[in-house]
Amino acid sequence: MDYALRLQNLRGELKRLKCDALAVTHLTNVRYLTGYSGTAGMVVVTRDETLFITDFRYRTQAAQQVGENAKILIAERGLWKRAAQELKKIGPKKLGFEAEHTSVAAWEEIKKLVQPIETVSTQRAVEDLRLEKGADELQIIREAVRIADEVMMHVLENLRPGLVELEIAAEIEHQIRARGGSGTSFDTIVASGARSALPHGVASEKRLEKGDLVTIDMGARFNGYCSDMTRTVCLGKATDEKKKVYNLVWQAQVAAAQALKPDLDCKAADRIARDILDAAGYKKEFGHGLGHGVGLDIHEQPRLSKLGKGKLAPGMIVTCEPGVYLKDWGGVRIEDMLVITETGAEILTGTPKPDQLLEL
Ligand code: ZN
Ligand code: ZN
Repeated sequence: MDYALRLQNLRGELKRLKCDALAVTHLTNVRYLTGYSGTAGMVVVTRDETLFITDFRYRTQAAQQVGENAKILIAERGLWKRAAQELKKIGPKKLGFEAEHTSVAAWEEIKKLVQPIETVSTQRAVEDLRLEKGADELQIIREAVRIADEVMMHVLENLRPGLVELEIAAEIEHQIRARGGSGTSFDTIVASGARSALPHGVASEKRLEKGDLVTIDMGARFNGYCSDMTRTVCLGKATDEKKKVYNLVWQAQVAAAQALKPDLDCKAADRIARDILDAAGYKKEFGHGLGHGVGLDIHEQPRLSKLGKGKLAPGMIVTCEPGVYLKDWGGVRIEDMLVITETGAEILTGTPKPDQLLEL
C-alpha cells in the first residue's frame, strides 16, 4: 500500500475542506492513511507535515507500521493534548476534524485544547479517498471473499434441523479463523423460520426446524478488509410461496447486479431491484437499500439506496442485496459483493446462487 501517496492525496484536499490542517481520529481512516492497526492513534496532516500520535503502548507498533510516513509523537496525557501542543508550534489557522466521528462533548474539549486555532467541521474527507479501491486493496478483499465463500459452503453442507442459530454463528467464526481470516466482519446473521423476516436478525437461541427458511449473512475479515455475503436456503421441502419469493428476490438481485456499471447513479441502482419487487406486489417488504460499499469498514460509501449520493466508478466495491421480508412468515435475501470495472461489474462472491430455492 502506498501510504505516502494517500497522505499526499489527503493533503491535496485541505484547501477544498477550508482548513490548513486536518485531524483524523476515526481508526479505520487512520489505518487507511498509515497502515496502523492499533486502537489508540490519530493522524494530523498539515500543509507540510504529517504527525502520528499514539500512546506508549503502541510505540513499537507505530514505528513498524507508520515508519517514516509521519513524525511519531507519544502522548502522555491524551492524544489530543499532545496534538494540540505540536499544532501550536506549527501554527495552522484552521484545523479540520471529522465531524461524523466526533461527539459534541469531544469537540467542546478539542476546541479548548487547540485554541487559538479555529476548528472546522469536515465530512467524508478520508472516506471519499477510500471510495475507489486500488489493485492492492482489491487483492486483499478477494481473499476475504474467498474465505467467506469456503465457510458458507462448509456451513450449508452441514445445515440441519436441531442446530441452534448461535452454534452456526460460532462455527462460522471458527471456520473463518481456521482459514486465515482474523474474524467476522460483523455480527453474523443466522435467521431461521419467522426470524428470517428480520433483516438484521443476529443469531439467537432458536433451533432450526424442518421447513424453515434460513438466511445466513456473514463476512470474513482479512488484513483489515471485510467481505459480506448472504444466502437463503430452505430446510427440507419448501412451500410454493417460499419458492416464489426466493425466485423473485433472485431475479431482482441478478438484474441489479448485471446493471451495475460506471456512471450509474447510486439511486438508480437501488431502483432496478426495487422496481422488480414493487411490480410483484412487495413494495413495502424491501425496506432497506440495495447495497453499500465494503472495504476497511463493513458499511462504507457508496450507499446504493433511495438516499444514495453520487455515481458508481471503477474500483468501487459494493454489495447487491435485495430482500423481501414478510412478518411472521419469513424472509429472503441474496447478497453478493461486486467490483465496478471499466465497463460493468464483476461479481466477487463465488458461492453458487441458484435461481431456485435450495432445499437442504
Ligand atoms: Zn451482509
Ligand atoms: Zn451487506
